[in-house]
Amino acid sequence: MELSEEIRNKYQPVIGLEIHAQMLTKTKAYSNDKNEYGSVPNTNVSPITLGHPGTLPRMNSKTIDFAIKMGLACGSDIAPEQHFARKNYFYPDLPKGYQITQDTTPICTGGEIVVKDADGNDKAIKVTRIHMEEDAGKSMHDIDPFNTLIDLNRAGVPLIEVVSEPDIRTSQEAYNYVTEVRKLVRYLEICDGNMEEGSLRCDANISVMLKGAAEYGVRVEVKNMNSMRNVQRAIEHEITRHIIAIENGEIIYPETRNFDALKGTTTAMRSKEAANDYRFFPEPDLQPIKITQEKIESLRAEMPPLPAALFAKYTKELGLSEYDAQLLTDQKEIALFFEAIIEHTSNYKAAANWLMGDVKSYLNTNAITIEEFPISAKNIAGLIALIDSGKISNNLASQKVFPAMLTENASALEVAEKHDWIQDSDEGAIIEIIKAVFDENPGEFERFKAGEQKLMGFLMGKVMQKSKGKADPKSASKLINQLSKS
Ligand code: ADP
Ligand code: MG
Repeated sequence: MELSEEIRNKYQPVIGLEIHAQMLTKTKAYSNDKNEYGSVPNTNVSPITLGHPGTLPRMNSKTIDFAIKMGLACGSDIAPEQHFARKNYFYPDLPKGYQITQDTTPICTGGEIVVKDADGNDKAIKVTRIHMEEDAGKSMHDIDPFNTLIDLNRAGVPLIEVVSEPDIRTSQEAYNYVTEVRKLVRYLEICDGNMEEGSLRCDANISVMLKGAAEYGVRVEVKNMNSMRNVQRAIEHEITRHIIAIENGEIIYPETRNFDALKGTTTAMRSKEAANDYRFFPEPDLQPIKITQEKIESLRAEMPPLPAALFAKYTKELGLSEYDAQLLTDQKEIALFFEAIIEHTSNYKAAANWLMGDVKSYLNTNAITIEEFPISAKNIAGLIALIDSGKISNNLASQKVFPAMLTENASALEVAEKHDWIQDSDEGAIIEIIKAVFDENPGEFERFKAGEQKLMGFLMGKVMQKSKGKADPKSASKLINQLSKS
C-alpha cells in the first residue's frame, strides 16, 4: 500500500490499547491448580478448573494484591469492594462455558502511565481501568495435522487487563507504552512480561480522523500480536489501510481483525455488530471481597522503587544523562545494583559507566544475570575509589584489577596490593624507567625528539611494560615529553 506524505498528514491516528498480563501467582485464579508455563499438557486441571457441578471457585488473594500493586503504580483509584461477574460464551478451550471476570466494577480505575512520545517528550497516557479475570485454555492448531488439540493448563490462570484511554497518537507511542507496561509489571514482579510466550498480550484499537475533527473515527481492534515490534507493525498497517479506504470513499466498519506477522497485514475476524452477547451477570459463587485501606497501605509499602521515579532521580539529582538513566532503569535488577553501588560512592557517572560497561559485558559474555555477578556492589564502589585516588589507572582497573576481582573474591585494594599493581606516582622511579627506555631504543628516541609525535605511543608502551603497568599514564607521558627536550 502506497500513501503520499501529504495525504497521510491530513489524518490523525487515534490508538487505545488493551493489555492482558498473566499473573505470576503459584496457583490459578480460583483454584489451587498450579499456575505453571510449560507443564505437560492437561496436568494442572482439577474439577474446579473444569467447572464440574458441585465445585466452587475460591479467590486467590495474591491476584488481588498484584492488581492493587499495578493500580498503585499507575496512580489509580482502588475499589473498596471486589465484585465478580460471569462472562458467558462457548468455545472449546473454555471448559466452564464462562470466564469469571469483573465487568462494571474493575478493581482499579483512572491513573496514568507516562511514556515518551515520538519526539522524546514525556506524555501521560490515561488508564481507563484495570480488572481481574481468568485466562482460557489454549487451542493448538499446528501440532496434529488433522485435529485441533487443547491444553487446559492455562484455563483459570489469573490475568489483569489494563485498558488505556484512546490517548495514543502514533505507533511509536504505542510501542513505548507497551514497553513501559512491561517494565512496570516486571519491576512489581507480578508478570514475567514475556510476549513470545503469551504472558503479556496486547490488543490494539485503531481509528483515524481528519486532523482537527471533533469526533474520533470508527475503530477496529487488532488481536494476536506476539511482540512489541508486531504491535507497532500492525498499527502502522491499519493506519495506512484506514486512510486509503477513507480516501477512496469506503466506509470503515467496527470489527475485530487478526494480524498476520509473516505478511505484516491484517484480516477481518468478526464484525463488532455480530459481537457475542456475553450475558454478564454477577458471579453467584464468589462473595464480594472487601479491601481495607490498611491492606492497600501495606501493599504500597512492599513496592519497589519504580522506573519512572528512579529515572527522575538519576537525571535530576545525580546529574546523569537521560541515556544513562534509561539504560540503568530498563531492568529492575540492574537499577537495584546501581542503587547499591551508589550507597558507597558519589562518583555516579563512574558507577554508571562501570555497570553499563565492564559489568554488563561480563554478564552478556557469560549469559548470567546481575544476581549471579561475582563482585559485590560495595567492591565496585571500592574499585572506583581506588581509581579516583590515583592509585590505579582506569586502564589497569579494567584490564587487570576488575578481572582479578571476578575470580579472587577480594576488594580492589586487596587485589591491587597482592599483585603489586598500585601505581608508581613516585616521579624518580618513572624517570629512571623512561631514561632506560630511551637508552634501549635510541632510533625511536631520536625520531621522537625530531618531532615524530606518533612515536609517543611506542615509548609509552615500553614504559608501561617496564613498569608492569604501574606507571600513571598521565604523568609518564608528561615526563617523556619533558625528558626528550632536556
Ligand atoms: P471492547 O470490549 O470493544 O474491546 P473496551 O472498552 O474493552 O472495548 O476497550 C476499548 C478500547 O478501545 C480502549 O482501549 C479505548 O481506548 C479504545 N478506543 C475507544 N474508542 C476508540 C477510537 N475511536 N479509536 C481508537 N481507540 C479507541
Ligand atoms: Mg477489547
